[in-house]
Amino acid sequence: MNKTILVTGGLGYIGSHTVVELQKNAYNVVVVDDLSNSKKEVAERITAITGEPVKLYISDINDQDDLEALFELEAIDGVVHFAAFKSVGESVNEPFKYYANNIGGMIALQKVMNKHRVSSVVFSSSCTVYGDTKQSPIDETHPVVDAISPYGTTKIVCEQILKDLCKHSGVKGVILRYFNPVGAHPSARIGELPLGVPNNLVPYITQTAAGIREKLTVFGNDYNTPDGTNIRDYIHVVDLAKAHVKAMDYALTMDQEYDIFNLGTGKGHSVLEVIKAFEKVSGTDLPHVIGDRRTGDVEQIWADASKAENKLEWTCQYDMEDMMDTAWKWQQSLGAG
Ligand code: UDP
Repeated sequence: MNKTILVTGGLGYIGSHTVVELQKNAYNVVVVDDLSNSKKEVAERITAITGEPVKLYISDINDQDDLEALFELEAIDGVVHFAAFKSVGESVNEPFKYYANNIGGMIALQKVMNKHRVSSVVFSSSCTVYGDTKQSPIDETHPVVDAISPYGTTKIVCEQILKDLCKHSGVKGVILRYFNPVGAHPSARIGELPLGVPNNLVPYITQTAAGIREKLTVFGNDYNTPDGTNIRDYIHVVDLAKAHVKAMDYALTMDQEYDIFNLGTGKGHSVLEVIKAFEKVSGTDLPHVIGDRRTGDVEQIWADASKAENKLEWTCQYDMEDMMDTAWKWQQSLGAG
């Protein structure tokens, strides 16, 4: 019989793409989402892609009673846990909001999973746990250091909680450390829906090209990199989503207590290279200026993703131009508003 997977935060950017891939791989999917950074209509958009209905619970996972009721109603076999706040800047201004929601959410979820003897979990973490590293490509054995932000702290603490439970309580956990997810589903039915002014590079680029923003500011061109701008490992969100399916397959059958994987392409691109790729696929000139460095930006970081490739038998199919092309198509589908 098909397994049933609960996806927390399943209407969000990465969550929605993961629901699509789980459904395409014959999993039954149940979504819990509090709509704090997503829209209910995303559920219908997922169905338009896969032809499968999305069983949706609108609730905050920190509400223990609601979560308990969900686990009573649904026979859950495993959980992919995304639901969390994710704005680095906001976390600096409102750290307690982040600690309470992100760490509290993990605890609430693990308590209910424990009670219902659901042991398999895939956790959405981030390369931010590597801090201000000078070493790239970076693999999973690199030490987890002091976080650069309260957001980063919540990822480190949640990883640690999960590892404890895996060591002592029979939980089977797969921790996925994302690099920079960008792009959108090729159907242009789902993608990123930033709240307000985007902090991240690619939504800022597409909104600028759409005329919503006047110009992009490149945060510094005096870094010690070939063109002076920061280097990141951008990964297409559909490739990332597919890795979650592989990780769930693994979590449901694994012998070892827990495992950790970097998810990136293994290639770095500078900010100027991203702009160039966008201009090429969109046929537009992107208005941009060079500005000051942004506080807290790591100079350059890209993944050694060979562990995921080898152990999960997963590879990236989309390149930088595909990332820009799908991000742009998604932006255009939203109109100029
Ligand atoms: N960036 C930029 N202008 C922007 C937003 C981002 O130059 O308006 C740069 C940023 O300094 C970083 C890269 O783009 O080098 C990726 O930033 P993003 O916020 O998307 O991801 P993160 O910093 O979390 O890696």
